[in-house]
Formats: sequence, C-alpha cells, structure tokens
Amino acid sequence: MKICSTISEARAACRDARSSSKRLGVVPTMGALHEGHLSLVRAAKAQCDAVAVSIFVNPTQFGPKEDLSKYPRQFDRDCRLLEKEAVDILFAPPVEEMYPPGAVTWVLVEGLSEKLDGRSRPGHFRGVTTIVAKLFHILEPDTAFFGQKDAAQLAVIRRMVRDLDFPVEIVACPIVREPDGLAMSSRNAYLNGEERVRALVLQRSLQQAQQGFQAGERNAVNLISAAKEVFAREPQTVLDYFEIVDPDTLDPVERVSQKTLVAVAAHVGATRLIDNLVLEP
Ligand code: AMP
Repeated sequence: MKICSTISEARAACRDARSSSKRLGVVPTMGALHEGHLSLVRAAKAQCDAVAVSIFVNPTQFGPKEDLSKYPRQFDRDCRLLEKEAVDILFAPPVEEMYPPGAVTWVLVEGLSEKLDGRSRPGHFRGVTTIVAKLFHILEPDTAFFGQKDAAQLAVIRRMVRDLDFPVEIVACPIVREPDGLAMSSRNAYLNGEERVRALVLQRSLQQAQQGFQAGERNAVNLISAAKEVFAREPQTVLDYFEIVDPDTLDPVERVSQKTLVAVAAHVGATRLIDNLVLEP
C-alpha cells in the first residue's frame, strides 16, 4: 500500500493506478476504522481495479463545540487494517495540506445542507461537501463509496456530484451493525457500558416505525409519534430528530407511498449518534 501525505503524491499515485484504463475506487473516511468502513473498502475492491482510501479528520465539518480534538485517531492500526484488505493507496494528509493558509473557498449544497444533521450541526455539510469535492479533484476516482449510515450526507453528496458534473459514480453501501443491532460508528468508542446499552434506543425507535409500517400505518405523523414514545421511555437519551423524509430531497413526507427514509439522531450521554432505515412499500 502506497501511503501519501501530500496532494501531489496522491494525485500521481491515483493517476498511475488509473492508467491502462483501470477503474479507481475511492473510500473517504475520517479513520478509526471499523467493519463499516471495511465493508466500503471491500465493495470498492470488488467493483474497481484499484482502491484508494483517504483518512482525514476534516476540521471544517466539526462545529466549535463538537468533538474535533477528541475524535479517535488510530493511524497505525488503520494502516494495518487497510494493508490486510490489499488497499492500493492511502491518502492521509495533514490539515495544512488540505487547507492552506488563506483558503476561503467552499462548496455548499444549498437547502439540503440545512436538513436533518445539517439543521442540528450548522456548517457541517458545507465542510463535508468542500472536503469531498477536494478529494474528488485530487484522487479523480471513477467510483466513490459511501455508507448508507450517513443517509443525509449521501443525499448531499449525490446532489453536489449532479449539480457540479463530477465524473464520479456514487455507490451507497448498507449499514453495518454490531451483533445487537447498534450501527457501527467511530463515535461508539465514546460510550461507557451503560450508555452502550442505552444507545440501542435508536435502533428500537426505527424498528417501532418499521413495525407500524408493516402493520399498515402509512401516516408519517403517527409513525413518528410511536417512535418518539420509545425515546420517552429511555432516560439520559435526548432525541435530536426523528424524521420520515424523501431520501433525495430530505423533505418530510406526509404519507409513506414510495421509498422513504426514516432517520434518527440522538444524544446518548455526551455522544451524538445517528441511524436510519429505508421503508419500501
Ligand atoms: P466516517 O469515517 O465516519 O466519516 O465514515 C466514512 C464512511 O464510512 C462514510 O461514507 C460513512 O457513511 C461510512 N460508514 C460509517 N459507519 C458505517 C457503518 N456502520 N456501515 C456502513 N458504512 C459506514
């Protein structure tokens, strides 16, 4: 695995990999890798001839009161995991490489960036789209792999790619869960034993909505209020949002009549977690 820390090295390595008409797959991450990330890497390996992974804890997608400084960083372990998956290129730049002094240019997907997580985390998606656009320009992937776990992020990135004509195919990969159903996340490492158990409330609230749906309920308000009751019964968890939305526009739907995203975010202790599922009539 070639490890690149500068833009010019990474660009050269990726161009080299793409020469002789090879398909290059890219998996952007913030590191602290788990099976969710590795599932994206495996999908990329299966669908592409060469795979580049990026590890960059992107400061511009963290709010001033968020967990940037304590976000888990495990570079050596991550390298070993990626070596094992036979990743070809790892791009792990320092912050100054990605944001040179005086950088003032942003990529903003208007509207969509203020929905779901974007509403609770002002500026978050502007940071995400800016860094993903930069990674696409630097690595020039044919295909980029993202997790369905971050469903709003996926909608925002798809819209950016469409609006700005990036020649990149976006592939969404299913949510990888722990055996008890908790969606894998680098932030799960923040949870203490008690919080780890409480964190299952996200999954339970989604299941409540799914069961209602399977029983024939199509009214979003009713599905949401039943799911919110699940939260009301779980102390020390604070619901951020529970929404039923169109997966492309992220706008709330009144009735579930086509493929619909059910998305939840909540604070379990000091840790903010997200999860979702898709209902298909
Ligand atoms: P992150 O390192 O949190 O920025 O995530 C990097 C990529 O991994 C994103 O596309 C995430 O959606 C994806 N990802 C994170 N957790 C999971 C999971 N449990 N299952 C599938 N994909 C995931």
